[in-house]
Amino acid sequence: MTALTDLTLAAMRRGLAARDFSATELTAAHVAAVEANRHLNAFIVETPDIAADQARAADAALAAGTAGPLAGIPLGIKDLFCTKGVQTTAGSKILKGFIPPYESTVSGKLLADGAVMLGKLNMDEFAMGSSNETSAYGRVISPWKAQDGSNRELVPGGSSGGSSAAVSARLCAGATGTDTGGSIRQPAAFTGIAGIKPTYGRCSRWGVGAFASSLDQAGPMARTVEDCALLLTSMCGYDPKDSTSLDVPVPDFAAGLTGDLRGKRIGVPREYRLDGMDPTIAALWDQGLAWLRAAGAEIVDVSLPHTSYALPAYYIIAPAEASSNLARYDGVRYGQRVTPPGGNLGDMYAATRAAGFGAEVKRRIMIGTYVLSAGFYDAYYTQAQKVRALIARDFELAWQHCDLLLTPTAPSAAFAFGDKADPLAMYLNDVFTVPSSLAGLPAMSVPAGLSLDGLPLGLQIIGRPLDEALVLDAGLAIERAAGFTARPGLAG
Ligand code: GLN
Repeated sequence: MTALTDLTLAAMRRGLAARDFSATELTAAHVAAVEANRHLNAFIVETPDIAADQARAADAALAAGTAGPLAGIPLGIKDLFCTKGVQTTAGSKILKGFIPPYESTVSGKLLADGAVMLGKLNMDEFAMGSSNETSAYGRVISPWKAQDGSNRELVPGGSSGGSSAAVSARLCAGATGTDTGGSIRQPAAFTGIAGIKPTYGRCSRWGVGAFASSLDQAGPMARTVEDCALLLTSMCGYDPKDSTSLDVPVPDFAAGLTGDLRGKRIGVPREYRLDGMDPTIAALWDQGLAWLRAAGAEIVDVSLPHTSYALPAYYIIAPAEASSNLARYDGVRYGQRVTPPGGNLGDMYAATRAAGFGAEVKRRIMIGTYVLSAGFYDAYYTQAQKVRALIARDFELAWQHCDLLLTPTAPSAAFAFGDKADPLAMYLNDVFTVPSSLAGLPAMSVPAGLSLDGLPLGLQIIGRPLDEALVLDAGLAIERAAGFTARPGLAG
């Protein structure tokens, strides 16, 4: 029999409904997997007692016929989501010991649908990073190893690296992620799983630690497209507590999945064909287009002329918003406080922030403060906002010629720790994910193939605003055609 931890989320639902196993058994199997894989450092906090209680409640609901759509499904929650009564740190020392008195809307919706929380997943500090090396709780190690004889430890991607490592290592059926410039899609690609960032405003940001509010979106990460669709349906929905939340109907994304792309046009943005692109990734991209053609789609060339300005604009806008958002961590209201002897209030703020924030967060706060300062606002921030509008218009014009875009998710497979010590080299890893974030569009990464040394590679599908359903259909078509069955070697 297949191990319970190996089942897809959809198969878990069927097994629970058929009483093949109980939610308590399913949860116990995952708790054991979490314990056996602690060396990955995927969780900051494990919550086995909460999980056991929730599993018991799910079993009772299943027996009574009152079970929600995710009853008994074991999930990990990224530590950016406030969880009532359970420490939430955003991967930062400054929030060590912070126990929220409330639940984020998104995690609350998953729990209300019956999900079981296994714990809080490690992440880059305040979601700033692409490798999980910026977490104050230690780096997350990818369960994958390159088949190059080196045995080097690899990054799981970031910032949702605890989520990607835990889902790919079968420690949970699915996980929440957040994506500001690629933090769901790039870690999904690095670990051979699927992940979707919905349209900006689909998922409530209420109770989610703010990085760059005009870009931040929550979304699911899971091992199949259908599993992502099941989680997304639960996570989305209008929330009056988030002023940017969209008051639009939420389709049943899983029930609507067909994988049928007949009559759809897939755009290939020519500016994404970078000079010196990894030939394996270029070939996989062509293969992906062939798969979508076989699923009934027509392939068309499109142009997104402002693509090369997306990264510079993002690395002005995101730090600007971060510097403002992170001003709230002042030692007064949340988490840690450092009081220098004889110091005044300003000294307390300075000492708290100096001790509480890591190097990458400080770098972003300084960049953000600089580009918002009186002398430089117009030169940097205003210009970046104009570029953002041009990038959004590029996509709007492209939608006159196509229904979806297909691109690689990342320019490389997972790299080793320390390989991108230069922040700029790290930022370049976001080249394919950032433009759609700036435009607020739904975008998904699906595992599609392997690098020459056996590491997962993802393809990215970008859709029109609110067209997650078609993005998921293309994801399903790629998933079916790719037949991606590779998996990491696991302990336990
Ligand atoms: N890697 C990008 C950054 O560091 C994206 C992070 C994210 O999406 N949260 O800003």
